[in-house]
Parts: sequence; C-alpha cells; structure tokens
Amino acid sequence: MLCNIYDWDNSKTISMPIEQLISLMTAINVKETFHLETIKCFAIIARTQLARKLSTYGGNGCEKHKGHIICTEPGHCLELGLPKIEIGQNVIQAVKETENLIITFDDKPIKPYYHYRCGGSTENSENVIGSRITYLRKVFCDFCKGVEDEGKDKFYTIEDLERLLNVKIEKPKDVYYNIRGIFENIEIDEQGRVKSIYVGGKAFKGTEVMEKLGLNSTRFNYMPVKFLISCIGTGHGLGLCITGAEEMAKRGMSFRDILNYYYTGIKIENMELPEEDKPLKGKVIVLDPASGEGDIYEGKGINNLREGEINLSIALEIKKLLKEKGAKVYLTRQGKENVHLSDRAHIANSLRPDFVLIIGQSTFQNQSASGTEAYYYREDKDAEKLGKKILEEVCKSLESRNRGLRVADFYMLKEVKCSTLQLNLLYLTNPVDAEKLADLVGRRKAAEAIAHAIIRYYSESQN
Ligand SMILES: [Zn+2]
Ligand SMILES: [Zn+2]
Repeated sequence: MLCNIYDWDNSKTISMPIEQLISLMTAINVKETFHLETIKCFAIIARTQLARKLSTYGGNGCEKHKGHIICTEPGHCLELGLPKIEIGQNVIQAVKETENLIITFDDKPIKPYYHYRCGGSTENSENVIGSRITYLRKVFCDFCKGVEDEGKDKFYTIEDLERLLNVKIEKPKDVYYNIRGIFENIEIDEQGRVKSIYVGGKAFKGTEVMEKLGLNSTRFNYMPVKFLISCIGTGHGLGLCITGAEEMAKRGMSFRDILNYYYTGIKIENMELPEEDKPLKGKVIVLDPASGEGDIYEGKGINNLREGEINLSIALEIKKLLKEKGAKVYLTRQGKENVHLSDRAHIANSLRPDFVLIIGQSTFQNQSASGTEAYYYREDKDAEKLGKKILEEVCKSLESRNRGLRVADFYMLKEVKCSTLQLNLLYLTNPVDAEKLADLVGRRKAAEAIAHAIIRYYSESQN
C-alpha cells in the first residue's frame, strides 16, 4: 500500500510504501544501540499508531491535512514530526520481521504509550491522563532498576518556582530562624554577628562556621531559597518502559513478551489494510426507516402508500449496497413493527456508528407540494457535507425538486450522539412523487443514489 504523507516543511505531498513509512516512524524512537527485540517493539508501536489512522479501523487519516494518512507537522500526527534520518539496518530488519503486526485491544489498535524509564512500576492511565484505559495498567518493573538517570536532580530557587509555576510565594520575613534539623538555636550579638549556632544538632561557634564554610564574616543570615527536586524514573510512566524493555530483551525475552508485559490484555495481530473495492471497511452505518406499523405519525399518501413500508424497503436496499462496500450496516427495525423513538435513538447510540440516516417521506394537505429535503443538527459538519451529497444525488436520480438542507432540532437529531441526517424523500401526497415510490424500481433508484453518495463521500475523505 502506498501512503500519502503531508510534508509540512515543504507544504507538499509525498508518497511512500507503508513499510517504508513505518521504518521512518520507528527510526525516530530508537537508538542504534538498542537490542533488536526492543526495536521490533517500536516497529509494532509505529505500525499501531499508523493503523489508528486507517479507515479499516475507523480512522480518517490526518484530521488537519485532509487526503493524507499522516502529516509531519510538529505536534500533530506524530509527536516529533518526521525528520530526515538514515534508517539503520536493524530498523529495516525489525520492520521486516514484524511485518503487518499491530497491537490491538477489543479488535482496535491501542494507543501505544511509552516512556524512557518507569523507575520501578508503570502507571495506571487514570493517574496520568485522567481516564481509565484497560490496557494501561500499573505493572511492576524490576527491569529498569539500578539504572541511574541523568539529570534526575534539579535545583530551583524560589524565583524559579514562581516563574515556572506562575505562583507568588510569601518569603519569610525573619531571616534568622530555625530550620529543624539543619540550623537551630542561633545566638546573635548586638552587632548582628553569629555567636553560636547548632547545625545538624551539633553546636558551632560563629567563627567556626565562618572558617569551615569559607564565609567572609560571622555576620551572616540564611534562608531556604533553593530546592532540590529529585526524580525516580524518566517520563510519565504510562505503557512501555523503554529501559525495562531493553533489559528484558537482553535477558532473552522476545518482543511479544515485552509488549504483553507492559500492555495489559492486548493481542498482537495482523493489520487489516483498506481494500480498494471496499472503501467503507471499518465504517458503521445505521439506517433508521421511520414509522413502523401503528405509528400515529406515519405518513399516508395517495393510493394507500404507507411511509413505514416504503422506508423499510429502501433501507434494506441501501444496506445491501453498503455492505458490499465493506460497511457494517444496522437497521433500527427489521420488519414492519413500530419502534419507539427513544429506542431508535438508543439502538443508534449503542452501535457508535459513523453515520445515521433517518429515512422518511413528507406529507402535506396541499397536493402540489413536492420534492426532497434533509435535516441535520447544528454544528454537525459531517451530516451537512454528506447531506448535501445525498440530496444532490437523489434529486438528480429521481428527478425530484431539491428543497434543500436545513438545520433542525428533531428528537432523533438531538438524541443521537453522532453524525445524523434525516432525509425526507419526496411527498407522498403529491401524485408525481408518490408514483415514484409506488414500486420497487423507484425505491431501488433512490437507494442506489443514497448509497452511491455515501460511498463517494467516504472514499473521497480517505487518503
Ligand atoms: Zn496530522
Ligand atoms: Zn521500568
């Protein structure tokens, strides 16, 4: 598979095979000296990061630079961007030997957190990022113990703390005061010279302190203005501990052992790539054929046409077409039974779909009203864009008047927590419109136009 990458520095698109991109992403994170099994862990981590962007796993590529799977903008798709670096032989080998493997949990690629050294145990996700992620549990890590961290001790003055933390610290007014266990029982003469002082519980004369500490005089005072902050470990402590992974690899453990150790309950399995003839793979779509039997709001039209029956047959037809393109498609009712609005919203929400399409028809006292219209909830940009495409395609195919796309706050639009469009296909009370929905030929035509618009929309929004 060829991947489109947005080269942020040069504002252009570059294309490269997926495994080459994974090699680059791996090379950013590893040192030449790393053990091959650790590098393999990072090859799989890189591939997992990429898999999250693929449509097969519900991703949409880079959200900022559309039409690209990933961008090199610092801080966006990749934390560090994608610098031009030499790819070492060991990286190439690691990527090859882990070909296609990604880390999944519940059949989805995980967010593979890692850090430099945990210092004894990794962390539960809720303590770091505030939310519970099942595969980011605390595990004890003896593997990285005994490694000295560079720069673990840092000194800060009161001014540093004020500036870095944006706080105001009240400084002590009395400059000669006891600091328990350090400076105590200070005795000062009239000139302000230190006569005697206890340091660490031991009594000293002022002159002794002056000599031993190399002070200019015995007229001194002291304040605690510098603090030592000493750290154990390096990083946030979530997920894989790199130093620990290195040690595990040196002791003969494999990348599978390492990944399974730091990510709780995961699977290491093959990545599914998007297929060209299945552009909707990974998409979940809910079709909501309005008005089952007995619904008091069911629209009834000319020649005893009933909304519920028409909508169901159109929805079943759309389902068939979208499934062929790889989507998972669900209906809020399977037969002519009526399903209450709140249950329909509940069904849609529980499936966490990418898109919900409510299909209905319009009715009006005046037979002359005709055409097709659609509604979406404010701020639902996806429904707006997709709705426009569906309306255009349907109106063209059915030679229907396009009555436009409008914002509305109907119950379903409000209650369904994902992109939702209500399509009111033709007027059952208009003789010409009703004729178009009277038989399967017309309904199939409508279904094909709707399905085609959905397929076109998702194909175009991908890389
Ligand atoms: Zn990006
Ligand atoms: Zn560790």
